[in-house]
Amino acid sequence: MAKVYFLRRKSTLALRQRKVALRRQLTVPPQSIRASVVERFGTCGKPNCACHQGAKHGPYYYLTQCLAKGHVQKFLLKSPANQQAARQATTAFNEFYVGLEELSQINTELLRRGEGLEGSHR
Ligand SMILES: [Zn+2]
Repeated sequence: MAKVYFLRRKSTLALRQRKVALRRQLTVPPQSIRASVVERFGTCGKPNCACHQGAKHGPYYYLTQCLAKGHVQKFLLKSPANQQAARQATTAFNEFYVGLEELSQINTELLRRGEGLEGSHR
């Protein structure tokens, strides 16, 4: 769910100024991945292993990515470097997306007011 920005009481000038700032700040991080890194612990097939008494194996880190309903891509992130890259890529995506969402809500409010959405109003 997106953060809701309460924009109706802001002046059009304030919205346009925020938009200019966002456009300056928002650059697509080239490493972006829209996904989650999840931590899992598990049990193995050996009947006498301590993992069956609560000392589970792990943590294991997986990247999970929902592509469409019923289409989830999931795989094990094997090395610490792989895990680090995945965390960095998903964080970069999320940060970019937060800014894009705010820009979207500002544009929606400008549209509601019958204001133009394009151009470089200052
Ligand atoms: Zn085990």
